Amino acid sequence: PQSPWCRFDPYDSPEDQDKEYVGFATLPNQVHRKTVKKGFTFTLMVAGESGLGKSTLIKSLFLTDLYKDRKVASAQERIDQTVDIVRHTVGIEEKGIKLRLTIIDTPGFGDAVDNTKCWQHLEDYIDQQFEQYFRDESGLNRRNIQDNRVHCCLYFISPFSHGLRPLDVECMKALHEKVNIVPVLAKADCLTPAEVCRKKQKIKQEIKQFGINIYQFPECDSDEEEDFKRQDQILKNSIPFAVIGSNVQVESKGRKVRGRSYPWGVVEAVEDPVHSDFLLLRNMLVRTHMQDLKDVTQETHYENYRAECIHKMTQMVVQDKKRSLLEKHQDGSEVDFPLPLATTDERERLIYEKDEELRKMQEVLERIQEQMQHTQRGGC
Ligand code: GDP
Repeated sequence: PQSPWCRFDPYDSPEDQDKEYVGFATLPNQVHRKTVKKGFTFTLMVAGESGLGKSTLIKSLFLTDLYKDRKVASAQERIDQTVDIVRHTVGIEEKGIKLRLTIIDTPGFGDAVDNTKCWQHLEDYIDQQFEQYFRDESGLNRRNIQDNRVHCCLYFISPFSHGLRPLDVECMKALHEKVNIVPVLAKADCLTPAEVCRKKQKIKQEIKQFGINIYQFPECDSDEEEDFKRQDQILKNSIPFAVIGSNVQVESKGRKVRGRSYPWGVVEAVEDPVHSDFLLLRNMLVRTHMQDLKDVTQETHYENYRAECIHKMTQMVVQDKKRSLLEKHQDGSEVDFPLPLATTDERERLIYEKDEELRKMQEVLERIQEQMQHTQRGGC
């Protein structure tokens, strides 16, 4: 009888039969199949004062109404309100690919009379997700960890201010080491093309001046096609993306388009790249850079958080050990190194040795953890 393995064609194409062919060229296909089966997750935070068109833009970006239950707050409610964190999650599917999309909205941001530290809730939320991931990753069962870390923050800048407001600067500076910030110039239809251009320049210059680290697009490989390089440059030059949001279909040049209708004409919010950077933003977020945003979150922001956590934990253990050694010695009670300690120098030396011992143990633990992570990643 024929072996069941015969149904697997050892060659991927007839030409392969002529060559010496082992088959590891199919590895990407294996990874593809496995990741498609698992599905994808992406978490996007939107920040900026209310009324700048955040929910409208999210609906237009993902063509999904994540804000069904939302009620508009009255003026008094907005005065009393503190910054809230609201999480909306939807599962979307396109051509068999599943995406679990989470939007973190921040109603109340910048609405209060005193906005001192109003970004604290956003910062805390990002930290909490890192903390949860760190706990899950260090726990016994590391299978099926849910990744709720924030992969990108769309920061909405008002079209009516002259460049960045102090609140924008403070907020972005508080978050830039923790999340990929993508600045957007909201409601660009309120500005003329020349004003959009000027505002973009001013915002870019202020971002640089205040040392804000926004998300950096990866460098293009030198062997990429010219067209690809050109598109990449256009994308980089468009920061901050000037966007227009709309969830209604209007008639323009005999076609139905998603846009905004004014007495003097129609603004095509989505389709026309001359009117807004909406398409550029959507392509960047979904088609070209979603994985990179996730990689930067993992490899830079989360790694920084993790390194800081481990450093703090090590410091705490060392401090505890030091304290207990000194206390025991002062009591004259038994300690786990030979007494009497004649000089302070000797005591310091022993403490230093213990420190070193702990540090080495920590390094070994980290290496084991990295190897395990590496094996896990390599397996999927
Ligand atoms: P959010 O509070 O930031 O989520 O803002 P919303 O999405 O609820 O929008 C507030 C108002 O601004 C609504 O009346 C929207 O129709 C309107 N709006 C949204 N996007 C735009 C835009 O790009 N241009 C203009 N002119 N209005 C917009």
